Amino acid sequence: MGDPRRIVIVGSGLAGATAAGTLRDKGYSGQVLLLGQEQHRPYELPALSKGILLGDTNEPDWVHDEATYADQDIELRLSTVISELRPDTREVVEADGTTHPFDRLLLATGSQPRRPVMTGVHLDGVHLLRTLDDARTLRAELLAGRRVVIVGAGWIGCEVAAAARRNGCEVTVVEPLPLPLYRLLGDTIAAVFRDVHAEEGVTWKLGVGVFGFTGDGRVSGVSLDDGSELPADVTVVAVGAAPRVELAHSAGLELAGAVTSGGVDVNACLRTTAPDVYAAGDIAAHFHPRYGRRVRVEHWANAKDQGAHVAGNLVGGAEPYTASPYFFSDQYDLGLEFRGIADPLADDLVVRGDLAAREFTAFWVRGDEVQATLNVNMWDDGDVLSALVEGDTRVDRTKLADGDLASLLG
Ligand SMILES: Cc1cc2nc3c(=O)[nH]c(=O)nc-3n(C[C@H](O)[C@H](O)[C@H](O)COP(=O)(O)OP(=O)(O)OC[C@H]3O[C@@H](n4cnc5c(N)ncnc54)[C@H](O)[C@@H]3O)c2cc1C
Repeated sequence: MGDPRRIVIVGSGLAGATAAGTLRDKGYSGQVLLLGQEQHRPYELPALSKGILLGDTNEPDWVHDEATYADQDIELRLSTVISELRPDTREVVEADGTTHPFDRLLLATGSQPRRPVMTGVHLDGVHLLRTLDDARTLRAELLAGRRVVIVGAGWIGCEVAAAARRNGCEVTVVEPLPLPLYRLLGDTIAAVFRDVHAEEGVTWKLGVGVFGFTGDGRVSGVSLDDGSELPADVTVVAVGAAPRVELAHSAGLELAGAVTSGGVDVNACLRTTAPDVYAAGDIAAHFHPRYGRRVRVEHWANAKDQGAHVAGNLVGGAEPYTASPYFFSDQYDLGLEFRGIADPLADDLVVRGDLAAREFTAFWVRGDEVQATLNVNMWDDGDVLSALVEGDTRVDRTKLADGDLASLLG
């Protein structure tokens, strides 16, 4: 096929909207149709668990100005749910039967928060957090003095806990693992986060799971596996997200296995197993040359970078996507960046800086290679850290801990 005349993008989140804008930036002059279930124009998610919950702002960061869509001739159709993909006839279909033909398709349907099957999970006052409307609704509930129980101590659970404390709520976080962020950071670094939240007044219930929610119409308590019950005015379920692969699956596209917790199988150029269908962002499980396996990344930078990258491939390029994962978070006065992929429960930890002062960089090292880094309230070495996780540098661990980092790059 020559230049596609019509590119359709399903999913008007960060990956989809970035792809649409980049197509125009690259001079693509065919039709661009961006279809999204949301009623709001494309926005970024990080502020939803930070600035919006804190009440600092009621607006997210919008991916593009409102005028951009008309100015760049991007046809944006909101409140539009695509219910079927027909790869053979190259069209996507809305629930009412409206079809949209495409020459090339980008699937960028993102993730949805997991809602565990348990008693009372549909009661009023049991919140999930994914959309702008979710965040605004939750913000209105996080009033001073309210008892807030958060289920799950991953990144979103921890950020919600921080915002709720800053709003003056009484906050308890329940997590079946021994520490918050345990699998992501390992015990030494995870303990730093446990202690920061405890100092800020969060009550931890670690090593115990949630059995269900109680209440009459509205939640009033959370039952734990150990038989105890926590009183609650508001609860937030933050137990991870699942990629929205229904369209790809029912169309017969290959899905990735358990290592990437699902996702749509794409090659290094982000193309699915259907010709002319690509995927980017949270749903894409792509073959990563550095890791020699598929990876699926649920982070802001990945959605933005893959959205931009895939635009070139949608119009005929065949460039592999090779960026390493990058993630950021803010909790209280603590800001952090995480780069790379590590197994913190198996890799060796090297710490530079001061854990107690919460100004440090953690390195996860395997042999003499850095797999991942976490810088907390230290901002000067970002380029070096990226080079360390992306390159083939052999490292001297003593220099990582206390030496000139840049000199490691040779
Ligand atoms: C509360 C929150 C805070 C976060 N904070 C951070 C952070 O601090 N740092 C960080 O690195 N990452 C953060 N993330 C993760 C990051 O924002 C996501 O990885 C990123 O937004 C994924 O972008 P995406 O375009 O793949 O998916 P999404 O942003 O989820 O967009 C997908 C879009 O597709 C639409 N859609 C799905 N199915 C259909 C369909 N069938 N028809 C039409 N439309 C459909 C959805 O409605 C949605 O709008 C956060 C995520 C959340 C939820």
